[in-house]
Amino acid sequence: MDVADLTWADDEYVWHPFTPMTVHRREHPPIIARAEGFWLFDIHGQRYLDGISSLWCNVHGHHVPEIDQAIRRQLDLVAHSTMLGLGNVPSIELAQKLVKLAPAGLNKVFYSDSGSTAVEAALKIAYQYHRQKSSPEERSLFVTISQAYHGDTIGSVSVGGIDLFHQVYGKLLFKTLQLPAPVAYRFPEGFDRDSYLEWTFKEAERIITENASTIAAVVMEPTVQGAAGILVHPQGYLKHIRAITARLGIPLICDEVAVGFGRTGTMFACEQEHVAPDMLCLAKGLTGGYLPLAATLTQDYIYEAFLGEPQLGRTFFHGHTFTGNPLGCAAAIANLELFEAKQLLDHVKEMSALAANKLAALSDQPNVGEIRQQGMMIGIELVANRGLKTSYDPALRIGHQVTLAARKHGVIIRPLGDVIVLMPALAMPGDLLELLCDVTLKSINEVCKKDHAV
Ligand code: PLP
Repeated sequence: MDVADLTWADDEYVWHPFTPMTVHRREHPPIIARAEGFWLFDIHGQRYLDGISSLWCNVHGHHVPEIDQAIRRQLDLVAHSTMLGLGNVPSIELAQKLVKLAPAGLNKVFYSDSGSTAVEAALKIAYQYHRQKSSPEERSLFVTISQAYHGDTIGSVSVGGIDLFHQVYGKLLFKTLQLPAPVAYRFPEGFDRDSYLEWTFKEAERIITENASTIAAVVMEPTVQGAAGILVHPQGYLKHIRAITARLGIPLICDEVAVGFGRTGTMFACEQEHVAPDMLCLAKGLTGGYLPLAATLTQDYIYEAFLGEPQLGRTFFHGHTFTGNPLGCAAAIANLELFEAKQLLDHVKEMSALAANKLAALSDQPNVGEIRQQGMMIGIELVANRGLKTSYDPALRIGHQVTLAARKHGVIIRPLGDVIVLMPALAMPGDLLELLCDVTLKSINEVCKKDHAV
């Protein structure tokens, strides 16, 4: 197809995810044809710096020889064979590597193919676990954190809490208990920042304790709630939840789909508070951002509740066609080897400091309410009035305007409402990271100045 046909056919045939299609068809965003390193090239040959690591998943850049070769090698052997009742070589090798890397005790790996399905599997495992342990009272309630995001399947939406995405499905969702998110850019009257955070810690303890006998599991994004707008939890919150759940014998599911694989500066975010959850959900960066693959790791005691002869009815009847796909597993093994070979976690620490330094220039910008950062996850919240912390009128789509301005300067970023998100590939070198920060600063200034002028 030529360029004009592709543009026409994209409008005519393709329904894009999380995308208002009326605007999409009006604005004609770039159609990507190829990529090299940290750059994406569109069908006109125009290049763009990939500032969101192709939706928070790319790790070492695009077209990485070691990962390309691993996939090609596997392609010469077998592209796909089912894991339902059969094994495949790279899925076994990868499982062993993941267990060695993950927090202690997470010894069993259940594969799937996206972040949503990794969480969905964890929820079903937790629910079935309690039924098979014949808990005296039915434990079917999941505890979540307000503004959580765990994916788009009905189970993972049920444990989510972002009204814009989730409210419309209200009647389809199962009931959950919500803990207040431990974040305090804005806090209710009668509190100050510290007293509000302290209240959220106490409230978490109260809600979990009062409902302990009915809770199937607590589900959380450890240390940072990504899709909520890069909400960074205070140090100690994860440990607090772990202590409460451990004391009450409640499984803790940590969803590291976004924060896992080095994003926050350690291989897994749980490591930062020396926490080992009962289940760990992984996807996105697992394959270096190359192919759809996910994993739900569990502690032995959970796995063992599913053992027994088939007639006992303990089997976990769950699995997707492409679960544990060999090409994805081969990419993931190559990805993990590169983490070691390139000492990527050291680079992440260095680059996080560089970005923090660069973005400090934004603290004078009257429309920047808060800059939130944990490792290579950065959220810049734009506000109409900094003193009053008032949001922009959503109809202005300020976040979207900033991303359009950045695109004109050759950089792809994507907002979450009015929060500008920077989530580059972890291996992005310093000069490109500086470019990403500079263009972001420039674009925010351009758009917000224009807004003042109106
Ligand atoms: N969990 C978290 C914390 C996420 O950030 C995401 C996606 O952004 C998901 C789950 C869902 O992952 P996927 O889009 O691969 O289904």
